[in-house]
Amino acid sequence: MRARKDSAIPPSAERRGATPSSSRPPAPQRTLCLPHELRGRLAAWICAGYPYETCGLLIGRAGKEATEVEDLVQARNLNRERPGDRFELDPDAFAATDRRVREVGLEIVGIWHSHPDHPAIPSQTDRTGAWAGWSYLIASVGRQGLFSLRSWSLQEETFVEEVIEP
Ligand SMILES: [Zn+2]
Repeated sequence: MRARKDSAIPPSAERRGATPSSSRPPAPQRTLCLPHELRGRLAAWICAGYPYETCGLLIGRAGKEATEVEDLVQARNLNRERPGDRFELDPDAFAATDRRVREVGLEIVGIWHSHPDHPAIPSQTDRTGAWAGWSYLIASVGRQGLFSLRSWSLQEETFVEEVIEP
């Protein structure tokens, strides 16, 4: 009897009444807006760097549901021991970029890096080094070029994939 009483509340009632801005769990999938021109630039850097990992910064504006990427920079990968599957983003490039973009009202909103001959899925190392609120754009690259481009952001310690648009 109790089960029937509970089921008298249609499960869709809450959802139907909710507006996108007031919806609670599950959180809407975040979007990373990455203009085509920037994708092209990124692909060129990543392919030129193959078979090593290349990395850099995403610059733009980050909102709750979407991050708009307006510019990209490439930074040196300082990892000398395992440059094929690890990256260590040059902290000087980070500091210089951070200063420069703040002057024009933008901010660093994430990091991009490549996975040579590996899927565009965050590694354990990527997880431990990740910052909440940033987007982590990962490109899978091989000898033939870019395989895939996927973006991730932390939601309660776990990487959740973002939709890349357009
Ligand atoms: Zn990685």
